Parts: sequence; structure tokens; C-alpha cells
Amino acid sequence: MILTQCAVCATELGLTLGKKCGRCSTRYCGPECQVQHWKEGGHDKLCKPIKKAGGAEQYNANKKYTEAVTIAVEKCAEDTKGQTCYICTQALHWKTKEGLVRGCSCRGTAGFAHVSCLAEQVKILWEEAEENNLEDKFGERWYRWETCSLCEQKYHGVVRCALGWACWKTYVGRLETDQIRRLAMTRLGNGLSEAEHHEDALTVQMAQLATMRRLGAAECDILIVQGNLASTYQFLGRLEDALRMRRDVYSGRLKLNGEEHYDTIREAFNYTTSLVSLKRYAEAKSLSQKMICVARRVLGEDQLLTLKLRWNYAAALQFVQSDTGATLDNLREAVTTLEGSERTARRVLGGTHPTTMGIETALRQARATLRAREPK
Ligand SMILES: [Zn+2]
Ligand SMILES: [Zn+2]
Ligand SMILES: [Zn+2]
Ligand SMILES: [Zn+2]
Repeated sequence: MILTQCAVCATELGLTLGKKCGRCSTRYCGPECQVQHWKEGGHDKLCKPIKKAGGAEQYNANKKYTEAVTIAVEKCAEDTKGQTCYICTQALHWKTKEGLVRGCSCRGTAGFAHVSCLAEQVKILWEEAEENNLEDKFGERWYRWETCSLCEQKYHGVVRCALGWACWKTYVGRLETDQIRRLAMTRLGNGLSEAEHHEDALTVQMAQLATMRRLGAAECDILIVQGNLASTYQFLGRLEDALRMRRDVYSGRLKLNGEEHYDTIREAFNYTTSLVSLKRYAEAKSLSQKMICVARRVLGEDQLLTLKLRWNYAAALQFVQSDTGATLDNLREAVTTLEGSERTARRVLGGTHPTTMGIETALRQARATLRAREPK
């Protein structure tokens, strides 16, 4: 997590308050905690390694990265047994001795890798783009921090989290005003969310938003962070907070980018998710219906976002109240919609992808509801 608290008593310090260790920059609420940390908290031994690593934030990022890799490797152990890394061709990483992961949509023997190898590869690609000012490559290369270069799908779960820490640890040492450091914070926040560490994600996103407001960041950049923050509210069960922010971000995107922009479609999807979770089905139904048409036209049928919009549409459809007694029709349409989505998801993402599994569960439930309601 981004360090926003006193290292001893956990008093909230924001991003700038408190007293820093003169050597390693570890922050405390005041001299008392600093003295205690030195005498009893082991800082006398840690100060040097922390300074050597590049300061408290860097040290923390390195440590968290190693932990996240260990977790990811363990989680993937069954899937990766007997495989080798497609980058370095070894089973164990030559330097870190870490095991393999796979957290994308690669199948068969494809896509096994070490998090360290994936991270090193993106780092080099990014450095090359930066040094040679390859502006047309910036987006695509930065995207590699969360997308598999083989199957072109995003990493999910603990693998995405480990890559989030990898990204943050790579760029945390840059100046606060550096765009890349800010984007790395986004990767970290997203990674933490993917691994369901939502309280940690909230801390990262709040810190990021505060920094950006202080530095006077552009509207479109603030919208991204607000969107991420809304997701975190949603996960933490703060649904009204989430909905308010979703609505603002969606209307902000409409104004800034227009209806056919990927980010606008994504925010529309997120807004409908919020509406569904607050049982505002009629609004969710009409917005998702409208945006499915846009998504099909702009992104295509096989796009993850199109699939997810259809999933939300089906969810809203099953519960929306109707005066004309068309509920049974709605249920049938929901089942048909989910059947189509499930086929597409299996083909494009594979059977073990969380979206495919989620759609399957929704389909089973919708079929059961339909069976119970259908006239015999
Ligand atoms: Zn303290
Ligand atoms: Zn120190
Ligand atoms: Zn490797
Ligand atoms: Zn892949």
C-alpha cells in the first residue's frame, strides 16, 4: 500500500505530513514514534537496507511485490506444474527462484511466465518507447502492464495484482509530477482491486486523487481515478457513494469523449452495474440496451465490454417491473441473451475466465427462475 501512516502508531499522515527519518525517509507522526521505532521497532537494522533500496516507499513496494509474486505463484501452482516460462524458457527464475504464473486467457501450453520476466519485458519495451519518443507506441506498450501480449486479454486476479506491484516498484522513484508515476499508481490500485484487496485499493486511490488535485491534473485523468474509486466503493458495499460517482464519471465522459468512445462505453457499463446493485432495474435496462448497440457497432460482438453489457442487460431484464405483465417475456429474453453471451465468452475468453464463469452462473439462475415461472 502507499505509505500514508506513521510507521509506528499508524496515525494518518496523508502524503506530506509528519517527520521523516533523515536517512531513509520513513515517516512518523513525531519524534517520539521515531525514537521508539529505532530502539524497539528494529529501525536501527532496517534503516540502512531501506535507504539502500531507495527510501521507504521503494522498500515497501519491493517487499509488497515479492509477497504478491509468492501469492500469485501459489495460486497458479496446479495450472503451471511441469511448464516453463515463455520468456526465459526456465521453470524457476534464474535470479529470484520464483515459480510460474498464468492469469490471462492463454490455453494449452501457452502463456506460462515468471512475473519478473513479464515485468522486465514491459520495462524494457517502455524504456525504449520513452527514450526514442515513440509516441504512437506509448499506449500499447504501457497497456502491457496488465495485458498478455500473446492472447491480448487482461490478466486477472492475483497475477494482475503482482504486476500492479511490479509496475509501482518500477516507477515509484520518479518525481511526483511525472505522469508515469501517476499511471503506475493506477496500475497498482487496479491490481489490488483485481485481487480483492479493496481497503488497500481505496488507500492508493485516495492518495492518488489527492495528489492529482494538488498538482492540478487534467479532467480526463481525474475521471479515470474517480472511476476506479467508484469501483472500490462498490466492492466495499458503499453503493450510494459508488452510484453518485459513476453517474458523474459517465456524464463527464459523455461530455469529454462522446458516446462512441471506449471509455464512455466502459463508464456506461459501470454505471449500469451500480444501478443493478441498487435495484434500479428500469434505468439499468434502458441504458444497457442503448449501450449494447453502441458497443456492438464500435467494439464488436466479441469484446469483453459488449459481453458484460449484455450480462447487465439480462440481469436488469429479469427483475424490472412491468405493468403489462411482460415479465415472462423478459425472463425468456434474459435467458436468450445470456445463452448467446455464454457461447461468445467460452469461445473468446475460455471456460475458466471469471467473466465466463459469472455468465454461466447467471444463466443457470435465470433458467431456474424461468422454469419456476413458466406455465406447465
Ligand atoms: Zn506515530
Ligand atoms: Zn531510517
Ligand atoms: Zn522467466
Ligand atoms: Zn495470455
